[in-house]
Amino acid sequence: MSSPTVKKVAELIKSRLGRNLQPYDIWYDGFKARSGMNQDELTAITRSKYPTPAALEADIPNILQKLGYTPERANYIGEKIAVDGSRGAGHAWGAAMKSDKARLRSRIGKDGIDYKGYNIAVHELGHNVEQTITLYDMDYYMLYGVPNTAFTEAMAFIFQQRDLMLLGKTNDDPNAKYLHALDNFWSCYEIMGVSIMDMRVWKWLYANPNASSEQLKNEVIRVAKDVWNTYYAPVFGMKDEPILAIYSHTITNPLYLSAYPIGHLIEFQLEQFADGKNLSSVIDAVLKRGRITPTQWMMEAVGTAVSTLPVIKATEEALINLK
Ligand SMILES: [Zn+2]
Repeated sequence: MSSPTVKKVAELIKSRLGRNLQPYDIWYDGFKARSGMNQDELTAITRSKYPTPAALEADIPNILQKLGYTPERANYIGEKIAVDGSRGAGHAWGAAMKSDKARLRSRIGKDGIDYKGYNIAVHELGHNVEQTITLYDMDYYMLYGVPNTAFTEAMAFIFQQRDLMLLGKTNDDPNAKYLHALDNFWSCYEIMGVSIMDMRVWKWLYANPNASSEQLKNEVIRVAKDVWNTYYAPVFGMKDEPILAIYSHTITNPLYLSAYPIGHLIEFQLEQFADGKNLSSVIDAVLKRGRITPTQWMMEAVGTAVSTLPVIKATEEALINLK
């Protein structure tokens, strides 16, 4: 978060926006391929393609074939995943025994799934595919799964990254590789801040187990401002912003948030490793390691431990080469 590269990317975002940065620009999404597309048009496509949970469920083998799976393998995985409409945001619940199905949940309205719901569904499908392979294809049951939550998030991000391609929208932007690095970098910068806030809030809660909800709320806001002042104020230019306190996730899923930035780092390292290879073969090969320790998994999968260096290096290259 204190990498000098942050300021350089912030300057680029400023020039793309043509104005000074505001706190909500921690969620700048202009490096994403979808930022140039009309969301209503995308929703029209997703609604007609997926009017019901059953329509999405039936299409999973086709989706998997677009990611490089053979028809047999796509059916083998697809028939082990069931889709439900959700009442909240998306969710992926893995099976715990062979013969059971993983559940994919995303919001599917009475008019079908909108683009946002679809984007989340593709993320959840990444989890479900990971859950299915690491349960059904493991040689030892006790090794089923991945080393920790960050690894399943990495799989979900790899799928989510391809949501437009899966709708048949190919991205022939010559800058795509650079934009992907910049997007990963800026996403890490945002979610690392809330992860640090998350950890500090829970440290405080352990020290103050009888805190009232009012005291907790005040502490969350205080910590959010403190993290802002350390890591964001020097880049954004304004102090005491409470925006990092926005995630209810901090309280509802204790100490989960840091799985996202670590997941983004793993995603980036896996994407670099998969470049030029068949994606489905890479996914199958890396997931068959199971729930060993994180560093051992990474060393065997991509040859290096989890690191911020690959994305920082690629971001520096992007800053030079982006046209
Ligand atoms: Zn996820």
